[in-house]
Amino acid sequence: MTAFRKNLIDGEWVGDAGSRNINPSDTGDVVGEYASAGVEQAGQAIAAAKAAFPAWSRSGPLARHAVLKKAADEIMARKDELGRNLAREEGKTLAEGIGETIRAAQIFDFFAGETLRLSGEVVPSVRPGVGVEITREAVGVVGIITPWNFPIAIPAWKIAPALAHGNTVVFKPAELVPESAWSIVDILHRAGLPKGVLNLVMGKGSVVGQAMLDSPDVNAVSFTGSVGTGKRVAAASVEHMRKFQLEMGGKNPLVVLDDADLAVAVDCALNGAFFSTGQRCTASSRLIVTNGIHDRFVDALKERMEKLVIGDALDAQTQIGPVVDATQLKQDEDYIAIGVREGATLAFGGERLDRKTPGFYLKPALLTEATNAMRSSREEIFGPVASVIRVQDYDEALAVANDTPFGLTSGICTTSLKHATHFKRNSEAGMVMVNLPTAGVDFHVPFGGRKGSSFGPREQGRYAMEFYTTVKTAYTFAG
Ligand code: NAD
Repeated sequence: MTAFRKNLIDGEWVGDAGSRNINPSDTGDVVGEYASAGVEQAGQAIAAAKAAFPAWSRSGPLARHAVLKKAADEIMARKDELGRNLAREEGKTLAEGIGETIRAAQIFDFFAGETLRLSGEVVPSVRPGVGVEITREAVGVVGIITPWNFPIAIPAWKIAPALAHGNTVVFKPAELVPESAWSIVDILHRAGLPKGVLNLVMGKGSVVGQAMLDSPDVNAVSFTGSVGTGKRVAAASVEHMRKFQLEMGGKNPLVVLDDADLAVAVDCALNGAFFSTGQRCTASSRLIVTNGIHDRFVDALKERMEKLVIGDALDAQTQIGPVVDATQLKQDEDYIAIGVREGATLAFGGERLDRKTPGFYLKPALLTEATNAMRSSREEIFGPVASVIRVQDYDEALAVANDTPFGLTSGICTTSLKHATHFKRNSEAGMVMVNLPTAGVDFHVPFGGRKGSSFGPREQGRYAMEFYTTVKTAYTFAG
């Protein structure tokens, strides 16, 4: 029997009309059935969050600490089960699913701690006898809209700081990954959140998400997803003069210089481009390689790609799971064809694979002799597809790396301190890696990008407070 999961509105599980969620490793496997909220339920969730805000925002830090810590502990204790569910609904490997679940627990633990570390400033005024206090207050009702590719970590890194800083939440997860979203809400609900503080509205983005954007009672929106939807979030938020934060796509460069340690460079490329089936906003989709190491690098990378085990996400041997769904699979294939049409060479992979069960399996693809002008080098593909771009030297590599509308992460593989230092300073990305994959970040430090990848304050770590609080400056004349 498949589970039927409802939405959480004002502390009650509600909803009936359900949509089925399919396992991308085995399309005959129904993960569960999920309630689908409409405009009316979105409105009820927003109203509940608004009503719950005054009490929750004035609750002491200990009340918030208790809930977040309890949730962190339960997520960690259930990491194998939740990680398995994640792998089953999204197609990440078991190890990646469990790793992401552990990450979610660590994030809740971190923000439980943040509730006790809140601080303000007291400074003298320029006017004698006057004191100035600078404090941070909760923003209000926060709308949280998340993508499918990190089904538990992204909701965690938005919901945890929102609650820690005293906001109430209406959470709309991506349609493809409702089980992980439901689980995290169920855990927080049982951890003792008062009714209305956290509301779950699963359903269509164009319906439920749009209803959140259109509501004047949503005081801030934190969004992660595609550039197209991000622009809608921005436009609707400006209309209501609300705070908004956008984390969107990437076309992240990994530069490999002649002096790189070849094994390190190949590890970085393999991991950054293809792990999590390349479905990471931080994936290395452009491998920018100087002439002297180019052929050795491509040969060594192909050799490693040949050994990758591609299969059912729930099989412990699998290193690369399926693509998330049929639409994304077609997009990946279309971009490979576009790259070849534009003159790149398909040096490895790119074909669909048959496995024991029907699923969306694609052999990771490597396009070589690509140029940075090709559509396949400029637009986000969001699959296990990487392009190798040949350059003459470091200066050209840096110029090509920065020649993109995006600016999320970047990386360089080199043994030169001079080039590593110069790259860190001059790369136009929000996160820069030296001798590390462009994907894979810590949870206690800021996360975010520049240019077309991001807008607004950083997420994660202490920097998250910038978005989830508003600053107040109070003056007192004491005589
Ligand atoms: P998407 O934009 O299609 O959907 C994201 C969310 O927006 C979903 O919950 C969706 O239902 C909702 N939505 C859709 N239409 C809406 C509307 N009109 N109003 C309000 N909400 C609406 O993105 P996706 O396909 O789920 O995710 C993939 C994208 O996310 C990629 O571009 C990837 O790079 C990006 N991403 C970015 C980061 C980052 O931190 N920069 C992290 C992960 C993923």
